[in-house]
Amino acid sequence: MISRRDILTATATGAMVTATTTARAASFGNPDEPPQGAINAKNRESLTDPGPQSHALASQFPSAQSPPPTDVGDLPQFWASFNNAPRRIQNGGWARQVTQADFAISETISGVNMRLTAGGIRELHWHLAAEWAYMTYGWCRVTVLDDKGRAYVSDVKEGDLWYFPPGFPHSLQGLAPDGCEFIICFDDGKASEFNTTLVTDWLAHTPPEILAENFGVPAETFSKIPLHNLWIFQGKLPGHLSADEKAIREPLGLPPYPFTFSLGSSEPVRQTKGGEVRVADSSNFTISKTIAAGLVTQRPGALREMHWHPQADEWAYWIKGKGQVTAFETGPKAVTLDFNPGDIGYVKRNNGHYVKNVGDTDMQYLEVFRSSYYADVSLSDWLTHSPPEMVAQTLNIDEATIAKFPNDRPLVMPR
Ligand code: MN
Ligand code: MN
Repeated sequence: MISRRDILTATATGAMVTATTTARAASFGNPDEPPQGAINAKNRESLTDPGPQSHALASQFPSAQSPPPTDVGDLPQFWASFNNAPRRIQNGGWARQVTQADFAISETISGVNMRLTAGGIRELHWHLAAEWAYMTYGWCRVTVLDDKGRAYVSDVKEGDLWYFPPGFPHSLQGLAPDGCEFIICFDDGKASEFNTTLVTDWLAHTPPEILAENFGVPAETFSKIPLHNLWIFQGKLPGHLSADEKAIREPLGLPPYPFTFSLGSSEPVRQTKGGEVRVADSSNFTISKTIAAGLVTQRPGALREMHWHPQADEWAYWIKGKGQVTAFETGPKAVTLDFNPGDIGYVKRNNGHYVKNVGDTDMQYLEVFRSSYYADVSLSDWLTHSPPEMVAQTLNIDEATIAKFPNDRPLVMPR
C-alpha cells in the first residue's frame, strides 16, 4: 500500500509523471482509499497504453486518460458533443443534434446546432417542445406568431437569445453578410429538430379544394406548392426589418413581450477577477417560462466555484476555451471530464460540481436549465453561513480560516 507520506514525498521530489495539478490534489483529499489514480502507480507500466488508440481523440480527454486520484466510482456519461454529430446538410444550411437518444443522461434538454447561409431559411414550422436558442455567429431574422394572433419579428446577433413557447409557429433566416450559426435547446430531451411540423408538409397533404376554401382563393393557386418539405432551403436575402415589421403588425399589433433577449450584452449578475456571469430567465426575459440560462466567462485558471443547482439538471454548452468539470454524487462518486468548444456537458440536479478553465485563453460556456428561474447553491456560501464552531469540528479547520472562505457567492474565483 502506498501511504499518504509516499505521495507527499513523491510530489515534493517531482518524481511523479502526472500533471502538477493531479499531484497536488493527491497530496491531500483521499487518494488512498481506494488507491486509485496515476499517483498510486509505483510501477510506471501501469500508466502506459500499448493498445490501439486514436491519439487525436484521446488527447482531448486528459482527465479521462489520467483522472485525479480523488475521482472515485462511476457516473452516467455526462459528456457529448456536436463535433461528431452527423450534419444534415441542405442548400441553405445544415443542422446536427444531440438528443436523449444519443446522450442518455440528457432527460430535460435536447440540443441542436444549426447554420443558415445568408438568405438560408429554416422553413415555417412548429413543434411540441419550447425552443430556446443562443446565437454564436452572424445575424438571423426570427419570426413567431403567438396564440392570440400577434406576430413578432426581430433580427438577432451573436450573444442574443430567442424563446418560442410550444406550438407557436416560427421561422428563421440567415442575414448578410454570412448568415448565422446558433444553438437550440428544446425543453424535452427527446425532441428532434428532424421531426417538426412543417407548413409545406401540411399543405401538400390537404385536398386542394380544402386549401381553396380555407384561403378563399382558387384551387389552382396551389398547383406549384412543394410536394416534399423544404426544412432548410436557400432563399433570397430579406429586406429591412422595418418592412417586415410593418407587413406583419396588422390588425392586432405586437405581442406585449419580446421573444428575443440580448444575453451577451446584458449586465453581469456577478463580476470578479476570475470572470463574470450573465443570466436570462423569466425574471428579465419574461417569455422564457421553461428555460433559464447563465452565460459564464472565466479567465485562464479561474474556477466556477463548487456548487449545485436545486431547481433543475444543468445542460452546458462550450462556446470557447478548455474546461475541466468534476461531478460529485452520493456513493461517493466523483468523475472528472474535459470540455472543448462544441461539447455538451450534463450535470444532474443537486449533483455537486465545479468548472475550471484549464486553457490559456478565456473560457465561455452556457448553463441551461429546464426551469423558469436560475438558481444555485454555493458550497462556500453554505460553510460560511453555518455555525462556525460546527463547521470547524466537521472539517478539522480552525474557525479563523473558515472565516476567510468567500461568504458573498463570488460564482467565479478568484474574487
Ligand atoms: Mn423550431
Ligand atoms: Mn453549474
